[in-house]
Amino acid sequence: MEEEKQRGKGNRIILMPSPFQGHITPLLQLANILYSKGFSITIVHTVFNSPDPSSYPHFSFLPLHGALSETEASKVDAVHLTEVINVRCVQPLKECLTLLLSHDKVKEDGCVSCFIVDAALYFTQGVCDEVGVPRIVLRTGGASSFLVFASFPLLREKGYFPVQESRSEEVVVDLPPLKVKDLPVFQSKEPEAFYKLVCRFVDECKKSSGIIWNTFEELESSALTKLRQDFSVPIYPIGPFHKYSLAGSNSTSLLTPDKTCISWLDKQEQKSVVYVSFGSIVAISEEEFLEIAWGLVNSNQPFLWAIRPGTIRGSEWLEPLPSGFLENLGKRGYIVKWAPQEQVLKHPAVGAFWTHNGWNSTLESVCEGVPMICMPSFGDQKINAKYASDVWKVGLQLENKLERGEIEKVIRKLMLGDEANEIRENVMNLKEKANVCLKKGGSSYCFLDSLVSEILSLKSSTRRAQ
Ligand code: UDP
Repeated sequence: MEEEKQRGKGNRIILMPSPFQGHITPLLQLANILYSKGFSITIVHTVFNSPDPSSYPHFSFLPLHGALSETEASKVDAVHLTEVINVRCVQPLKECLTLLLSHDKVKEDGCVSCFIVDAALYFTQGVCDEVGVPRIVLRTGGASSFLVFASFPLLREKGYFPVQESRSEEVVVDLPPLKVKDLPVFQSKEPEAFYKLVCRFVDECKKSSGIIWNTFEELESSALTKLRQDFSVPIYPIGPFHKYSLAGSNSTSLLTPDKTCISWLDKQEQKSVVYVSFGSIVAISEEEFLEIAWGLVNSNQPFLWAIRPGTIRGSEWLEPLPSGFLENLGKRGYIVKWAPQEQVLKHPAVGAFWTHNGWNSTLESVCEGVPMICMPSFGDQKINAKYASDVWKVGLQLENKLERGEIEKVIRKLMLGDEANEIRENVMNLKEKANVCLKKGGSSYCFLDSLVSEILSLKSSTRRAQ
């Protein structure tokens, strides 16, 4: 056991997240997993949405100054921001890696084994090739959605892009069970930017020394099998990251979670509460917000709603609620700005998760055996939702117009209807598989073992020179 913990000793891994909550969390979790194998950890990051070094005193942190300011970052959408980073960080990262690979630094800190980076930061392949450090990619989304991303050129060739509403019920020939309406879109001023970003990051993944996934074989075996056929680089599904029991797994949250909701949950009946959260980026209109609010109230189920400030376009927080709404709600509902989500999903009072199906939320729900109400918005979310509802059968999609009557119906169906038991059973089966895969001999356990061996066999130019 002790030997296992020491395998990486004397070796440093440099990691870089994409600066969004759903990307920072898994990267820091991965860093902790590798730290538990004895590797030293350095996190290189943008100043915008910088992780909090005080939560990780056992890591070194290096900000890339001058690459991007907070004000600039707040003005563009996630796709454009990623593009800006892919251009602006080239020089600062080159300088930073050159320093970390310098003889003196290596003598002081240990050999650099590799650079592990979020797949979206495709510019890093060129930088790594130039400075002579192997690059491993972390894909923070699922494998099934990545397979769709990797098929973008083919989908375009076959006329699926731009996505046409009139074809929404058509099954995508090469990617069943996906229908045209499940294909990833990103509402942006420049729709082509999303397509280009995806194609570029998939191409650069193919040049890497390996791809790590926060998923597990039993959850996405068919996509992983196909990826192994199509990609010649090694593939490591070693998730779910958040279920490794490790010392030093501290908060990765950019916002402060409001833990008062846990004492509210303590007072609710088992499996009675609908937990609602749409993650860290999704925004909704005022009209949608009001339909959600009334749908929740009319369902008569207790609910915990995490509404991030800025979620409702044009409002600071809850101003669009009619006066008296909160007072009339009484104890039936609890609203917070940001929830301790992992803790919430683990709570016995939670019976359903109304989610936007970001990959982390989807995986967290599966791992706690919580059935989902799926309301995807953009990017990979529609694919994750389709898998949750139609492949794993662990949730129901809110398909029609977002309207209070529809919401009420779906909540009732998931909490009380005939299908509810079957869905609960399916999600409990997956929860069990998620537990088993991390145990000795389990799929993720074994893939992590091969990943560690692979990292130890990689050679950066400083190591070769020694
Ligand atoms: N999250 C949280 N509290 C909240 C809402 C979200 O801790 O109130 C966390 C959640 O546990 C997940 C992450 O934020 O780990 C959101 O990532 P996801 O991939 O689901 O969605 P994104 O924010 O990237 O759209």
